[in-house]
Amino acid sequence: MITRFAPSPTGPLHLGHAWAALVAAEHGDMLLRIEDIDQQRSRPEWEAAINEDLRWLGLTWPAPVMRQSERMGAYTAALDRLWSLGVLFPCTCNRRDIQAAASAPQEGAPLLGPDGVVYPGTCRGAARHGSRPGGVALRLDGAAVADLVWTDGGPQSMTAQAFRAKIGDPVVARRDMGTSYHLAVVVDDAAQGIDLVTRGEDLAEATPIHVALQQMLGLPTPDYLHHDLVRDAGGKRLAKRDDARSLASYRAADWTADALIAHLAISRTAPQPGAPGPG
Ligand code: GLU
Ligand code: ZN
Repeated sequence: MITRFAPSPTGPLHLGHAWAALVAAEHGDMLLRIEDIDQQRSRPEWEAAINEDLRWLGLTWPAPVMRQSERMGAYTAALDRLWSLGVLFPCTCNRRDIQAAASAPQEGAPLLGPDGVVYPGTCRGAARHGSRPGGVALRLDGAAVADLVWTDGGPQSMTAQAFRAKIGDPVVARRDMGTSYHLAVVVDDAAQGIDLVTRGEDLAEATPIHVALQQMLGLPTPDYLHHDLVRDAGGKRLAKRDDARSLASYRAADWTADALIAHLAISRTAPQPGAPGPG
């Protein structure tokens, strides 16, 4: 199997990332992909730190490393194809417009999907012909999505109707980026020949969006395996800002990689609060 570890270079890797990388390496030949489409938050220093942390863990991966910031051409081509299929529409709503429309009294409580509030459909009537508009967000028309099947541990499926209701019209190109996580991940998994996507369970509910995009773009659907998340002592998933759990801080406290790996494999939870120590 070809798997991948796909961190964003926006902060230090922590225990959760180590777990994700180890799962990827355990299930196949792991490729590395740097997910740096968010150029506002991505830093070369963090990419260098990712390399150092992964090598410290004993992981290796073949060159070249894929870097999303170098792949705008591939994302543009995919968007052009989707646009020519008539399945995208431009959306000029901001977050507040969407909140307001989704929580209008007749709508009941706003529905939550993988990207937050399910889009209430405000701009669905916008023109879809002519050349693809730039400088505007593009949404995938949820009504154009067919029934979906994929593998995630076991067989999974979602009907077209459930996609419309639960996910709606996801953004596939953000105004500020010209692409999105969903589009980039699908295009890149295919380009890297990934046949097993391992990643945290927080991304499981985004998978139908990825399968829908694969179908429309004529790309193969890999198998998926979503693993549990490393949580802190309070049960909250680790975030980038939890520097205390960074791999660099374990290293600085003289943990060996073997000790950390054993610790992760056994407890799958971070040590109790306080400075990390080899105890
Ligand atoms: N870049 C994402 C992250 O850092 C992972 C995306 C994926 O594995 O699909 O959480
Ligand atoms: Zn809109």
